[in-house]
Amino acid sequence: MNNLLETPIEYLKGVGPARGELLRKELGIHKYGNLINLFPNRYIDRTRYYRINELMNSSSEVQVVGKVINIKTVGDKRTRMVATFTDGTGEMELVWFQGQKWIRENLKLNTPYVIFGKCTSFNGVFNMAHPEMELLAEHEQSLRSAMQPIYPSTEKLTQRGITNKVVNKIMQQLFLETQALFTETLPGYLIKDLNLIPKNAALFNVHFPKSQELLARAQFRLKFEELFFIQLQLITKNLIRKHKIKGHPFDKVGDYFTNFYQNHLPFELTGAQKRVLKEIRNDMGQPAQMNRLLQGDVGSGKTIVALMSMLLALDNGFQACLMAPTEILANQHFIGLSELAKPLNINIKILTGSTKTSERKIIHEALESGELHIIIGTHALLEDKVQFKNLGLAIIDEQHRFGVEQRSKLWRKNDIPPHVLVMTATPIPRTLAMSLYGDLDISVIDELPPGRKPIQTVHCYDSNRLKVWKFLKDEIAKGRQIYIVYPLIQESEKMDYKDLMDGYESISRDFPLPEYSVSIVHGKMKPSEKDSEMTRFAAGKTNLMVATTVIEVGVNVPNASVMVIESAERFGLSQLHQLRGRVGRGADQSYCIMMTSHKLSSDSKTRLETMVRTNDGFEIAEVDLKLRGPGDIMGTQQSGVLNLQIADLVRDRDILMLAREHAVQLLKDDAPMEKPEHAALRHAFIEMSKKKNIWNYIS
Ligand code: ADP
Ligand code: MG
Repeated sequence: MNNLLETPIEYLKGVGPARGELLRKELGIHKYGNLINLFPNRYIDRTRYYRINELMNSSSEVQVVGKVINIKTVGDKRTRMVATFTDGTGEMELVWFQGQKWIRENLKLNTPYVIFGKCTSFNGVFNMAHPEMELLAEHEQSLRSAMQPIYPSTEKLTQRGITNKVVNKIMQQLFLETQALFTETLPGYLIKDLNLIPKNAALFNVHFPKSQELLARAQFRLKFEELFFIQLQLITKNLIRKHKIKGHPFDKVGDYFTNFYQNHLPFELTGAQKRVLKEIRNDMGQPAQMNRLLQGDVGSGKTIVALMSMLLALDNGFQACLMAPTEILANQHFIGLSELAKPLNINIKILTGSTKTSERKIIHEALESGELHIIIGTHALLEDKVQFKNLGLAIIDEQHRFGVEQRSKLWRKNDIPPHVLVMTATPIPRTLAMSLYGDLDISVIDELPPGRKPIQTVHCYDSNRLKVWKFLKDEIAKGRQIYIVYPLIQESEKMDYKDLMDGYESISRDFPLPEYSVSIVHGKMKPSEKDSEMTRFAAGKTNLMVATTVIEVGVNVPNASVMVIESAERFGLSQLHQLRGRVGRGADQSYCIMMTSHKLSSDSKTRLETMVRTNDGFEIAEVDLKLRGPGDIMGTQQSGVLNLQIADLVRDRDILMLAREHAVQLLKDDAPMEKPEHAALRHAFIEMSKKKNIWNYIS
C-alpha cells in the first residue's frame, strides 16, 4: 500500500503528464499520497432541496427541483439567455451568458430538472446564473455523496479545465486504484477509547461523505491524527533534549538568594511569580539543560524573577547573562537590576554596541576571569570575543526578536550549555505556544502585582483632537507624563517619518515652552541621543514623549499615565497592547487613547474594539490569532508557521489539547514506541520525521 502511495501522480488514470504537471505546480501534488491529503475546504449540502418561495434574499448555493416553462434571448450586442423556472411555489430566472447554443439545443422544456447554483435576487426576482442542471430522472439514479466537497483550487487550474468536478473524478479514481487500503496508524486502544473511525473510513468520508455525521467523524479523526503526530514529535524532541543535553545542576540555594529573599525583596512576590520561580528552580536543579519560556504580560514583574534566577546561578558558582533586543532596554534592565542587587555586593556590567573599546576590553577580561558575575547586554553578547569563565544561565528578553539560531549560539559558548530562560511579553495563546515552542517548557505569570488600576482605553476620531489635547493638559497639570506614538512601517518609512516630524512640530506648538517641554525619540537618532532623551523623560524633565515604536518594548516610566497612539488603525493588535503596557505602571489611573481617521476597515474596527473591551493580553492574542492566522502572529520572522493540512490551530484547539494529552500519556508509557501495539505508529512516526522535521514548520 505504502509503495502505491509513492506513485507519481501522472500515472493515475485521468491525470496524465499535462494535468500532472499542473497539479504539481499549483497544489504541490506529486504523488498519490499527496492527493489523498488534499482535503476539501468546504462542503455543499446536496441533501436539501429548496422551494422557490423559501429562497432568502442572500446569495447562497441552493438546489431546487422544477421545470423550465419558457426561454428567450435578451439584449442586443451582448446577448444572454433567460429561462423562467418554476416549481409551483413561485418562479425564478435562469441566466446564461455563454454556451447559449448548447442550451438552446439541449434544454428540455416542461421536464423536471434539479438545478443547483448561487441564487441572488434582483428587483424582487430570484435568479441563478449558469446553474448546474440535471434531469430529475437521472439525478435520482446517479450515486453521489450527499455532501459535495469543494477542493482548494487556483485560477490556473480552473482555466485549464481542472475544475472541482474533475478533481472529484480524479479522487474517485484514486480510491478505485488504491482500494481504500490505507494503513491504520493509531493504536487500537486509542481508536476505541476516543471512539474514532478507522483510517480508511475517515479518508473515504472526508472525500465522499455519506452523511453529515460521518463527515464530522472523519474530520475529527484526521485532525486528531495530524495534531497527535506533531505533538509526538515535539514532545519526543523535548525528551531527547532533556536526556542528551547535559546541564549544570544548581543544587544549592545559597547566600545571594537567601539574603535577597529574606532581607531585600522590595515587595511581596505575587503568587504567580512564586510559582514560576519554583518551576525555574526545579528545572535548574536537574543535571539537564533548562529551556524555559517565561510568558508574562507587560508589567507582570518578570524582571525580579530574572534576577532571582540569576542569584541561584551565582550561588552555585556560575555567571549569568541577560540579553535584550535594544540598547534602551538593555540599559533599563541594567539600571533596574543594579538597583535591586545593590545591597548584595554583586559585580554587574553592561555591554552593548556603544560600549567604548577600552571598557569593552575590561569587561571581556572580567568575564573570562569570572570576576564579573552578571553581564547585561544586546547582541553584542553574542560576539566571539565574549567568553565566559562559566556561564550558568542565559536569560533572553523578548525572544521573538532573536531567532532560534541566536539562542543556540549562546549555548555553544561552553561545553556544558547554560540553562536558558526566554522571557516574552508577547502573550502567545497556549494552543499556539504548545505547537511553536514545543521544545521549550512554558511558565506563565498570569497575575499582575496588586494595586494596579486597569488602564482605561478609548478610541477617538481625529476630529476630536481638541478635546484630547485638553485632557492631556489636565493630566500634565496633575504632574503626569504622556507618550504620543506614531506608526513606523518599514515600507513607508519616509512618509511615516514626515508624519512624525509634523506631529512633533504641531505638538510643540500646542504644548509650548516654557510651560511644557516635549521629548522626541525615533529610529534615525543615534543610540546615545535616544538614550539621553529617554533618560530625560524618565527623570520627569519633559512632559511629553513623541516617539515611534522604538519605545515599544519594556521601557519603564511609572509616572507616565497616558498613551496616545496616532493612526492606531495601522498598528497590529499585539503592538497596540504592547504600547498600552507602557502606562499603568504606577499607582495612578492610566489611559490609552487610540486616535484614528473615520475610514476604518472591519479588521481595524475589531482590533480597536478588542482593545477597548479588554486589558487581558491572552484574550487579545486569541483575537489576533483569529484575525491574522498563526502564520503572521509572530511577525515576519516566523511567518509560514505550521502548515497544517486539515487541522486549524484556532478552531481545533480542543482537539489539539486532546491530542497533546494522549501524546504525553503514550510517551510516558512507551517513549521508544516499542510495544507491539505501537508498531504501526512508530513506523508512521519515523516516516514523518524523515520527511518533515518539525523545525521545517517553524523556521
Ligand atoms: P515586566 O514583566 O513587564 O518586565 P517588570 O518586571 O518591569 O515587568 O515589573 C513592572 C513593575 O512592577 C516594576 O515597577 C516592578 O517593580 C513592579 N513589580 C513587580 N513585581 C511586583 C510585585 N510582586 N508587587 C509589586 N510591584 C511589583
Ligand atoms: Mg520587562
